[in-house]
Amino acid sequence: MLNIILFGPPGAGKGTQSEKLIEKYKLKHLSTGDIFRANIKGATELGTLAKSYMDKGQLVPDEVTIGMLESEVNKNNDANGFIFDGFPRTKVQAEALDNLLKSKSTSITIMLALEVEEEELKKRLLLRGKDSGRADDQNPDVIQKRIDVYNNETSPVKDYFTAQGKYKGIHGIGEINEIFNSLCKEIDAVK
Ligand code: ADP
Repeated sequence: MLNIILFGPPGAGKGTQSEKLIEKYKLKHLSTGDIFRANIKGATELGTLAKSYMDKGQLVPDEVTIGMLESEVNKNNDANGFIFDGFPRTKVQAEALDNLLKSKSTSITIMLALEVEEEELKKRLLLRGKDSGRADDQNPDVIQKRIDVYNNETSPVKDYFTAQGKYKGIHGIGEINEIFNSLCKEIDAVK
């Protein structure tokens, strides 16, 4: 199995690159943000809970996010592999993912991190907010909060996978296809 974590701050381009990667490598895309948004749209209990955190730029609690992610992985036992997009976002989530994959006799192949500096992220998110309708992309305070949460809570996940020798940083500014090619090069070197 090829199991990829696509990592990076909000607005780094994880969603865009995931779409291209799943097509090329025939992987199952699991985006926790997309799953939460689908639940909000469907007015589920999980959606109502997630929205109360997402609107403030906070993380949804680990136990809720981990439970949801595990059930999505379990629904896709026939997958060739996964792209985890927006997960893990905390060290607890990283450990849970490692354990889940271990129980399925597989593991994370590589963590690809899109590196983009803060000013560029803020510009991209505000621009996305204009046409995506995402409330969390329209408020500069919420955007700042998400970036702060990334720096404080999510960024340590990088050290966790660096210690396993799985972390690869990719420069996330430039042509979409150029960035895609850099990602593919790293994947082809380990698959
Ligand atoms: P972005 O990376 O652009 O901020 P996402 O769609 O990945 O957007 O996430 C949107 C929001 O969903 C996050 O700000 C957070 O509230 C929630 N969320 C997504 N993934 C997780 C996760 N792994 N753990 C906790 N909360 C999450």
